Amino acid sequence: MANPQADRPQGGARAARPLTVLQVLSREQIAPHLVRLTLGGPGFASFVDKPVTDRYIKILFAKPELGLTPPYDMEELREKLPLEDLPVRRTYTVRSSDAQAGTIDVDFVVHGDEGLAGPWARDAQIGDSVCFAGPGGLYYPQEEFDFHFLAGDETAIPAIAAALESMSEQMRGVAIIEVSGPEDEMELKAPAGVQIRWIHRNAEFDPQSTVLESAVREFPWPQGRVQVFAHGEREVSKKLRAYFYNERGVDRRDMSLSAYWAFGRAEDDFQAEKRSAVGQIFEEASK
Ligand SMILES: Cc1cc2nc3c(=O)[nH]c(=O)nc-3n(C[C@H](O)[C@H](O)[C@H](O)COP(=O)(O)OP(=O)(O)OC[C@H]3O[C@@H](n4cnc5c(N)ncnc54)[C@H](O)[C@@H]3O)c2cc1C
Repeated sequence: MANPQADRPQGGARAARPLTVLQVLSREQIAPHLVRLTLGGPGFASFVDKPVTDRYIKILFAKPELGLTPPYDMEELREKLPLEDLPVRRTYTVRSSDAQAGTIDVDFVVHGDEGLAGPWARDAQIGDSVCFAGPGGLYYPQEEFDFHFLAGDETAIPAIAAALESMSEQMRGVAIIEVSGPEDEMELKAPAGVQIRWIHRNAEFDPQSTVLESAVREFPWPQGRVQVFAHGEREVSKKLRAYFYNERGVDRRDMSLSAYWAFGRAEDDFQAEKRSAVGQIFEEASK
């Protein structure tokens, strides 16, 4: 895979992030708690892909009663609307993209009636518009590592699946993935030397039912240089940070490790907290 830094502008400036508007072309229940939306349409022409496996987009959700038409001019809306009426962002991985077909797939965890994105995806209709910024992202599995350690809950399945698919046949590693139960497991394509271990909470996520940290700790520590990709709930991510970074001494630059969501917090609060000590996994820029 090409170096993802290569498409960065010189001088450290961030490229402008215009909004893309796509339509829902199809909706597929790929597991009891995961729904896949295929998005496409004329707006695909403005989708600037990234050569990484953790590509993420920031989907904007506007209050339907305001009747706003995407793409939203956020600067104008910030001047016109009170804070509580501005479209809000939810972050999702691009599971795959197909430049020929002009489509991307996004897999949403359906986690009940709470929140915006989960319930929206569960009930999405063909033709619904989706407005988003991005993609961003930095990680991809690199050949120079001896072992690839991937770990996450359902929210990380799209990025883990994309990473596994991108690996060459000689790469070795493990992917430890926490789901509710066996019915949420799915076929993932991976090289023969990469084990896929599904582990079960046997319940919805809560701080007591999660088993990801213990499963990661139980896995025999591999020889050689290890590249880590570990994402999921915030408190679990903090424990995984302690394990990989503090206990196993993995270099920070060899790790993609952050929280994808926080138990009991909507993404707005969670992202705001990422800028304070309580929300930080490392002292990192938030995604
Ligand atoms: C870089 C990145 C990539 C991500 N990729 C994906 C992806 O591909 N697919 C995906 O589904 N998610 C992904 N996420 C996580 C997703 O952004 C959050 O789960 C988000 O909070 C969902 O928004 P919501 O509107 O459904 O719920 P919110 O309004 O944010 O939260 C409402 C309530 O639901 C709870 N909640 C939120 N998510 C979950 C969950 N997964 N399980 C149980 N309870 C939950 C919250 O704790 C809160 O109590 C990603 C996050 C990041 C930062």
